[in-house]
Amino acid sequence: MAGPREKPIIGIDLGTTNACVAHVRSRIPKVVPTDRGNLILPTVVALSDRGDVLVGGVAKDQLVTNPKNTIYGAKRLIGRKWNSKVVQELRNYYSYDIVEGPGGEAAVMLGGKVHTLPEISAMVLAHVKKIAEAFLQKRIDEAIISVPAYYSDAQRLAVRHAGALAGFDVKRIVNEPTAAALAYGFSRGLDQKVLVYDLGGGTFDVSVLQLSGNVFEVLATGGDTFLGGVDFDNRIIDYVLEDFWRQHKIDLAQSPIAMQRVKKGAEAAKIDLSLMPNVAIDLPYIEEKKGRPLDVRLQLSRQQLNDLTQDLVDRTFALCDQVLAERNIRPDEIDEIILVGGQSRMPLVQQKIQEHFGRSARKGVHPDECVALGAALLGDSLDSIDSVTLVDVLSMPIGIATPTNHFRRILDKNQTIPSTKSFRLPPPREPGQPIEIDIYQGESDLIVDNEFLGSIRLPAAATGRRIDFKLDEECLLKVSFDDPVKGMTEIGLATKDTPEGLRKALAEEAKKRDAAIGAAAGGEPEKRGGLFGWLKRS
Ligand code: AMP
Repeated sequence: MAGPREKPIIGIDLGTTNACVAHVRSRIPKVVPTDRGNLILPTVVALSDRGDVLVGGVAKDQLVTNPKNTIYGAKRLIGRKWNSKVVQELRNYYSYDIVEGPGGEAAVMLGGKVHTLPEISAMVLAHVKKIAEAFLQKRIDEAIISVPAYYSDAQRLAVRHAGALAGFDVKRIVNEPTAAALAYGFSRGLDQKVLVYDLGGGTFDVSVLQLSGNVFEVLATGGDTFLGGVDFDNRIIDYVLEDFWRQHKIDLAQSPIAMQRVKKGAEAAKIDLSLMPNVAIDLPYIEEKKGRPLDVRLQLSRQQLNDLTQDLVDRTFALCDQVLAERNIRPDEIDEIILVGGQSRMPLVQQKIQEHFGRSARKGVHPDECVALGAALLGDSLDSIDSVTLVDVLSMPIGIATPTNHFRRILDKNQTIPSTKSFRLPPPREPGQPIEIDIYQGESDLIVDNEFLGSIRLPAAATGRRIDFKLDEECLLKVSFDDPVKGMTEIGLATKDTPEGLRKALAEEAKKRDAAIGAAAGGEPEKRGGLFGWLKRS
């Protein structure tokens, strides 16, 4: 059995809404409490009116009064190109300004200055480092950071970069479901198929793992990057706004401060309904009419919440079925179900788990903490003789653009990693020009819906030579080609310039989006529900 690690290491779950940090002492993983004594730290960074950088609970507290200088949800933006479809859509829903960064990536404005997303996440991570060092009373330089299984190569690199900016030597990036499974099965000598159902603040992830002793093999993974707790909140927000409109013919969505209060009230009601059958949403003096104060005052029952959100829960189970079907696994073959993410505490989710899988979820695995605990266990076991073996899969295909802006898959979904795929270099698009290959990651057959990872350029003479796409164990892509003189040589990906084909496709998308927004604006609030819900995402 291995002794304690020479250098202390922590596991960090850097979530969309909250971060959680853990360490291992005497082989037992434990969460490190924050400076406020909580077990989770809001992943919010803000600049106060006095110019101080605030991180965590204090930053979240000033969201209502200082929305332009309060950055939340960085996890959705990090590692994405500014002109990607996702970022352009998020710009409509976030209260702070999202701008183009120096390398063409999404960046944010804070205090009138452009900050890259790795810089923002580094502020959270540096705070985490400080908290952990104060609590453990020693310097901590090493960390394992978890990321969603669906994170692209660029997103993983950006998180690594954030860790380095915060002063960490990031020993490994681990997928969140794998970390959750580690928290459950580490050193228990299990032989089981485990399903990790992770419904967090902004995303839904499902993975099936085979645990065989200390080998953790991901069999399949999937989910929806736009399905999470915030969608549940939005259903309640819509409900509150419609009720207010019916009573007073006032559209509360026009007032950012009122909206922040409604949002806070909606989330609190949702969380309380996990414990209680009925709650009251009470927001005094939210508006005024002819000098008279108006309040939001309404009752909401658990049954009403279930009715408002049933389709969201159903979607998570459709995704579970899809992931199981990809590997021909029947629901009754699953030995354990682990719930991760705050939204999985909703009683309707737990009831559906029972109905769907014929068993209840595993008790004793804490949905907010297990990812950080698993990451800490992995860190502690690195370099030790009884360390774990992680066998992961690629969650989203990686491929290249065709001349018609379609996506040709090179590395397919659920491909075990590390792995390498080779192909022959196509000729240049124009005779005599260099060969240009634009690399993307995503599920769509069209490049415009996928994430642009980077381009490579090679001389026309390289036509027909071998090129390798290699994924390392952290799911990071390395590209090399068979140079006639030097043999297999690694090529760096150029990420700054948007490829011509993508630029055109994005311009067409932007035109379509503007037309849709134009058509949706101006109608009565009831008519603006649905696709253009009140505060679709934040
Ligand atoms: P996470 O990203 O895992 O921190 O999940 C945060 C999400 O879980 C937020 O949308 C919270 O509103 C939601 N959440 C936290 N606790 C509960 C609860 N007891 N019941 C329902 N949702 C919750």
